[in-house]
Amino acid sequence: MRYKVVIVGGGTGGITVAARLLRKSKAFHGQVVILDAAEKHYYQPLWTLVGAGEVKRETTERDESSVIPDGAVWRKEAIAEFQPEENYVVTEAGTKIRYEYLVVAAGIQIDWGKVKGLPETIGKNGVVSNYSYDYAESTWDAIRNFKGGTAIFTAPNTPIKCGGAPQKIMYLAEDYFRKAGLRDRSKVVFASGGTIIFGVKKYANALSNIVQERDIDTEFFHNLVEIDGEKHEAVFEHLKTHERVSMHFDMIHVVPPMSAPDFIKRSALADANGWLDVNKHTLQHPKFANVFGIGDCTNAPTAKTGAAIRKQAPVLVDNLVAAMNNKPLQEGYHGYSSCPLITGYGRLVLAEFDYDNNPQETFPFDQSKERFSMYLLKKEVLPVVYWDGMLKGLM
Ligand SMILES: Cc1cc2nc3c(=O)[nH]c(=O)nc-3n(C[C@H](O)[C@H](O)[C@H](O)COP(=O)(O)OP(=O)(O)OC[C@H]3O[C@@H](n4cnc5c(N)ncnc54)[C@H](O)[C@@H]3O)c2cc1C
Repeated sequence: MRYKVVIVGGGTGGITVAARLLRKSKAFHGQVVILDAAEKHYYQPLWTLVGAGEVKRETTERDESSVIPDGAVWRKEAIAEFQPEENYVVTEAGTKIRYEYLVVAAGIQIDWGKVKGLPETIGKNGVVSNYSYDYAESTWDAIRNFKGGTAIFTAPNTPIKCGGAPQKIMYLAEDYFRKAGLRDRSKVVFASGGTIIFGVKKYANALSNIVQERDIDTEFFHNLVEIDGEKHEAVFEHLKTHERVSMHFDMIHVVPPMSAPDFIKRSALADANGWLDVNKHTLQHPKFANVFGIGDCTNAPTAKTGAAIRKQAPVLVDNLVAAMNNKPLQEGYHGYSSCPLITGYGRLVLAEFDYDNNPQETFPFDQSKERFSMYLLKKEVLPVVYWDGMLKGLM
């Protein structure tokens, strides 16, 4: 079996690339295969609002078959192995699929098991997470049933998708507790393995003020390593002193550690840390010129978001076509990413920035201010942009 272009992963990056490629030329019809065993495709950015009770989780899910672009072939198989020296991949069922060009868009792996006790208790005992379609509703259950006490919101010390998401749900929960008259009986803690609230100074300043105004405790260098749901106890490792710090919780929103998918880590396509190696401006693999990568699985040092993929996809597709025609590649991706930081019900700070953490704002106003209009953009406009624009290869 042989295709001109094999795309590994039919999530945000894989579908966007396939759709743009197929729009470029009819000659690609029947020549592009998407390999993904998933039955469903998710619009993950709305899981934050599922966890806050603002959006029904079903609106974030569609059949994978419904997002496969016309002209692409979907093979419902997961990849187990890459053989880039010989230009083929091997599926978990052992099928060899040959390619002329390979695009890797396999997303990030969520390592639930790396926090001791987490797989046993997630979704129960007030231990919740927005990082899965299955558990996002448990976050809402915990928030609306909270009776006061300690609510902890964690962030790991690994790269994660949407670096702002650990704190978005915290601001929403804090807002909910305040409106429910529970705030004076509640302690809200941001316990993070990171060192600062946000990487871009302009937005970090705004968020630090919000944290202070709302009386949220921040504990940086605190990496969650163990959790006992029944005892309501979370154990953190302090990353400077290596001491173990125990905290009681009444509810805890956990953002688990994440890493490159294992099948990428063990392949010749990985860098020393296991991520898919790409040139951060062209998205081409530095050793295998017929291999490109996009999205969360790559080592492009940008914030891992769908918004980053929206800017990566046109660069990747132009460069893929240039490579096919022996033309020079464009260094067209400069690290753009965006993080719509929800800071409460109806309030949002829209962070947009590049590789150098310089703001790259879209709107002609100061986006570090909380706005209702930007909340509506996130909740109502961006999902339409995603389903009807990005995934159709139109924007
Ligand atoms: C709670 C949360 C909030 C977020 N908020 C935002 C936000 O506000 N704004 C924003 O822009 N982004 C946000 N994101 C991030 C955004 O959803 C991701 O960055 C984006 O979906 C990444 O796209 P991807 O194509 O790299 O991976 P995914 O969309 O995750 O797709 C990966 C695909 O690869 C497939 N795959 C995996 N392994 C294999 C294999 N072995 N073989 C074949 N296929 C495989 C999977 O089945 C999946 O379909 C958020 C994410 C979460 C979880």
